[in-house]
Amino acid sequence: MSDPKTVLIVEDEKNIVDILRFNLQRAGYQTLEAYDGEDGLAQAVSANPDLILLDVMLPKKNGFDVCRALRDQGSSVPVIILTAREEEADKVLGLEIGADDYITKPFSMRELVARVKAQLRRYTRYNGTDKAESDVIDFNGLVIDRSTHQCTLYDKELNLTPLEFDILWMLCENRGHVISAERLFETVWGEKYLDRNNTVMVHIRRLREKLERVPAEPAYIITKWGVGYYFAGEDQPTI
Ligand code: CA
Repeated sequence: MSDPKTVLIVEDEKNIVDILRFNLQRAGYQTLEAYDGEDGLAQAVSANPDLILLDVMLPKKNGFDVCRALRDQGSSVPVIILTAREEEADKVLGLEIGADDYITKPFSMRELVARVKAQLRRYTRYNGTDKAESDVIDFNGLVIDRSTHQCTLYDKELNLTPLEFDILWMLCENRGHVISAERLFETVWGEKYLDRNNTVMVHIRRLREKLERVPAEPAYIITKWGVGYYFAGEDQPTI
């Protein structure tokens, strides 16, 4: 039995914190709490939680700024944004600044705990507890090590989030083949592909910003319009 995972809850509404704490602890997680953005960021750094639930509207520093600050510092901790608004712009912004998932209030606790579990499963896999699953892709200066969750480009480390890593791994593993957004989403997110096609696009864009010398003219992750994405190789891809 491994150590319990720690979830940092950054949320200023006490009743929501109470219900999150109750449900997460019941699901076997340890919890930490912060009631404003500054304290949230401080605890994210000092306590090194396994996952962060991050409200958007927070005193002192909003959730987007907290997430952006974490990513700027090179942290790849999974972040789930809790947004009160249904607006697509909020979701896209959250993903663009490096969140791994978002959930709109009001949400069911069942759904929230399921999302937390999914993110932690993805992250743990790459923290390399199981070296037997070690696998490395080494291609055109890009080295991706699935056992250490490390990705380097010409020896320079790229700080990918777990989702970005999964996407890149899938594209590299299938290089020479075009992968549809639907297949990418269903494999990486492990959920049915419904109306969230933006999600894939946003993550691909973020990945290119880290990977490509000129993100607008990608050399690694190529869009096949109307079909999907493929990892560039010597040969023309097949569909
Ligand atoms: Ca709030």
